[in-house]
Amino acid sequence: MKILVAVKRVVDYAVKVRVKPDRTGVETANVKMSMNPFCEIAVEEALRLREAGAAAEVVAATIGPAQSADTLRTALAMGADRAVHVLHDPDPARPLLPLVVAKILRAVALQEKPGLVILGKQAIDDDCNQTGQMLAGLLQWPQGTFASKVLLDKEKQKATVEREVDGGIETICLKLPAVITTDLRLNQPRYATLPNIMKAKSKVIKKVTPEDLNVDIRSDMEVTEVNEQPKRKAGVILSSVDELLDKLKNEARVL
Ligand code: AMP
Repeated sequence: MKILVAVKRVVDYAVKVRVKPDRTGVETANVKMSMNPFCEIAVEEALRLREAGAAAEVVAATIGPAQSADTLRTALAMGADRAVHVLHDPDPARPLLPLVVAKILRAVALQEKPGLVILGKQAIDDDCNQTGQMLAGLLQWPQGTFASKVLLDKEKQKATVEREVDGGIETICLKLPAVITTDLRLNQPRYATLPNIMKAKSKVIKKVTPEDLNVDIRSDMEVTEVNEQPKRKAGVILSSVDELLDKLKNEARVL
């Protein structure tokens, strides 16, 4: 069985994001970019399932500009067998929406025919948390979102997924093929070792375009402006409870 893992290139989680002076988006030039942390967890889980004998091959896929190949190389250095790069240079005013990404991933899944697709639960740049759910809907496959534990039964062709919900841990059983999205506590992703980084250079990255996959990438949404968060005003120290009540009544008008 094959596992397809969707990995996204995003601004590194440790970088303080800055808005571009023309307010068309956030600054990405000369900024450290990395694999979305939830996608690293997705790659790690796919590798563990392959190492446990539950899967035979791990294929990483990304949609993005030429530089996104670095993200695929990271997945290959972690241990993925090969990769698919759907080349798309986004216009900052028209970023790819989760529905379009899901349509492209659906086309890749129909070509690759994986038994399981694993995505991050959320990309830390757009914070959408939609792609996995939309992909499962488009493919009409069962979904296990926010997985904190995954068990695969190759013989019975099913996956058991534990997911963190408000009231505790919910356990669901999915018939394969299925879509899973990863939560933070699923695993601790490995670091790529130097020999594996070298080996990854010779692994295959297949390049395609959305047109090759017959996917229409036009979207109905346009980003009109991106702004910094307003700076928080400094607080004041009050001398008595009476002064606090006075301010709540007469300044904040919340009492
Ligand atoms: P989102 O719905 O945008 O928060 O993204 C959730 C997950 O969808 C990510 O963690 C990735 O696994 C996948 N994803 C989103 N955008 C892309 C992309 N451009 N290329 C590959 N995978 C993506």
